[in-house]
This record gives sequence, C-alpha cells and structure tokens, in this order.
Amino acid sequence: MAEFNPFAVVQQQVDRCAEILKLDAGVHDMLRRPMREVWVSLPVRMDDGSTRVFQGFRVQYNDARGPTKGGLRFHPEENIDTVRALAAWMTWKCALMDIPLGGGKGGIVCNPKEMSQGELERVSRAYVRALGRLIGPDRDVPAPDVYTNPQIMAWMMDEYSRLEGANQFGVITGKPPALGGSAGRGDATARGGWYVIREAAKECGTDLAGARVAVQGYGNAGYYAAHLGHTLFGCKVVAVSDSRGGILAEEGLDPEHVAAHKAETGSVAGLPGTEPISNAELLGLEVDILIPAALENVLTGENAGDVRASIVAELANGPTSPEADSILHRNGVHVLPDFLCNAGGVTVSYFEMVQNLYMFYWDEEEVHQRLDAKMTTAYHAVLETAQRLDVNMREAAYAVAVRHVAEAMQLRGWV
Ligand code: GLU
Repeated sequence: MAEFNPFAVVQQQVDRCAEILKLDAGVHDMLRRPMREVWVSLPVRMDDGSTRVFQGFRVQYNDARGPTKGGLRFHPEENIDTVRALAAWMTWKCALMDIPLGGGKGGIVCNPKEMSQGELERVSRAYVRALGRLIGPDRDVPAPDVYTNPQIMAWMMDEYSRLEGANQFGVITGKPPALGGSAGRGDATARGGWYVIREAAKECGTDLAGARVAVQGYGNAGYYAAHLGHTLFGCKVVAVSDSRGGILAEEGLDPEHVAAHKAETGSVAGLPGTEPISNAELLGLEVDILIPAALENVLTGENAGDVRASIVAELANGPTSPEADSILHRNGVHVLPDFLCNAGGVTVSYFEMVQNLYMFYWDEEEVHQRLDAKMTTAYHAVLETAQRLDVNMREAAYAVAVRHVAEAMQLRGWV
C-alpha cells in the first residue's frame, strides 16, 4: 500500500469539488495549495542540560475570509503534509460554519508523553518566539489540538504578550477560563458533534435514548463524546478505545470510570468488568453511531465495508479515506464529515476571540445556545445540498464551504 498522504486526499477532494461546482480554474488552483507555510527549528534546553532542536510547522492555508485559525498538534509523527491537510480542512470548516476566519494549522514534532512540564513549556514558548508576528489576533490564531491543552495555550499567550509588551489574549484560543478562555470551550468539539448527531438521528429515524455508540480515541474529543452521549442523550456507550487498546461492555460503559482508569493507567484498556477489543473490531461493531475521535486514515478501502453503524460521526480530522467514503455512501451509512461534525471546537474558539475583543464574557448557557444554532444550521445546509446535488455528505459540505471561500477570493480580486 502506498504511504498515506493526507494532503493528497485534500487535493483529491478539492478536485472532486471543482468538478461538482464547475469551479473556475484560478479558484481551483488556489484551493489546491497553501497560501503560506513556515518551517521553524526550535532549540530547547532539556532537563538533563542537553539541547534538542525540535522541528515545527505553521501552515496558513487561506485567509480570504479572515485571519487564519486552527489548532496546534504536538506529535512524534507530525509532518508537513499532515499539517497542510489539516490547515485546508480548517479553511473549509470556518467557511462552512460561516465564521469570519480562514484556515491554518501548526505542528511540532515531539512526544509530549516523554517530556517534562518544563520542557513542554520551553518548546511552546520557543515556537511562539520563532513565529513572532506571523501570528496575532488579526493574522493567525492557534488553538489546542492533538496532545496540546489549555496550559500550553496559556504559556503561548504569555510569550506572545511579552513580545508585544501588552496582554494579547486574542492571539490564541482554548485558554484556561482564568486567562480569557471561553466558557464551554473544553467540551465544544464533542458537544457540537452531538448537536449534529441529534439532527442526523432525526433524519435517519434513530432514537438516541439507548442508542448504541462506539468511540475510537479517548482524548479530549473522545472522552467528551462518550460523556455527553451518555448524559445529554441517554445513549449507551458500548465500546471505546485509545492507541493502546479498547474495551467493550454490552450493558454500557460509565465514561467517568473509563476516564479515571485512563488517568491512572495511561489507557482505557484493561478496565475491570470489560472485555478487551481491538481498534479494528471496534470499527465493525453492531452499533447505531460510530465516532472516530482520534487520528487520520482510520476508515479505509479495506475496512469501510465492515462498518455496521448507521451514522458515522467524524470528531477526528480526516479519519475516512476517499475509498472508504464511496463504500460508506454506497452502503447507506450517514457520514457526518469531519469539518462539519467537529466544527464545534473552532466555533467556540471564534466565540472566545469575540469575547477577548470585547472584554465581556458570556455564560456557558449562552455559548451552548449559540453553538447549537451554528451546528444545526450547518448540518441542514449540508443535508439540503447533498439532496439537491445528489452527492454524498462530504461532497456537499465541500460545495457549501468552497462557495464561501471562492466568493471571498473573487470579491477581493484574487481570482
Ligand atoms: N483543533 C481544533 C480543530 O481541528 C480547533 C481549532 C480551533 O479552535 O481553532 O478544529
């Protein structure tokens, strides 16, 4: 099998969208590649006195609609093509949600599981110093993603504020609430996903009370997906997994017990009273809702035919390959594509930027209501487009998002 390249997937998706929308050649060309990318080398003093040089990236994919926006991943296998793909998906995500932002993404090649807090802090600050004025509240605004968290956002905001000589809360989102973070940002990705699943369940005639759910990945998105499915809708979370293994309990898991076990042992695997299950087995379980909430390329041409869920809700970015997309569509699975389903995170990040700017903060209830309205509107726009153009849900999401980006580029006179 050729090595998986997420950016090749993006370009394939853009080409398909160009075909569906009969895009102008200039627009098409512009959407196929990033507007700007930055590579940085970060010398960092390690706890043992040695210096290690970490590689970092920031891709600003397209800012036609506003400052670029998107998370920052710390991952040992991070690479430029993954960051490019993620930055492109952020562009479509913000456009689909109709928030006035472009798309970007960053990454640092490192393994946070093997680093001390001090080392993480020094890497985080070094990244901000290396990017300097390439980021900023009206230029490019990072946020948390895989293996980054509010503490890392706090260090980065502090470093940028020092460079500027004044507090700059709006340079980054996903901060702790004590430093300008928004209420409701912590669970926003999963919560937004559930608002979309709720609408999809109505469309599919699925009763969410007692619906069987499997969640792949138990980080921020996966944990909250299990927790909210259970508490908001009374779903039965029968299986969850992480990079080290999975667990199954036919009578339903308690997401809090699972989280406590993971905090103690480093994995969901081995929770007493559950059966072990592999990631591959989890994807093929007889469930109503399957939630990939980890990394890219999980559902492929090889295993998509095994999926028995009626709804696949993509909380991860890029979990489904184009081959898998066709198979799932053919098998009648209702796929909620990543840049629709997981857009709750960036939507509340946008709310955070607005609150930072106004220095006036909303309560959680207000955040939830506004998030619900955004997610619900976007789902129905995608569904209506899928039906009208007779295309799958991802193609429809592309059609809606790309129209917005193309319009902005055309009005600016770029294309
Ligand atoms: N990393 C999240 C995403 O992939 C959130 C980005 C943000 O809040 O800017 O959507």
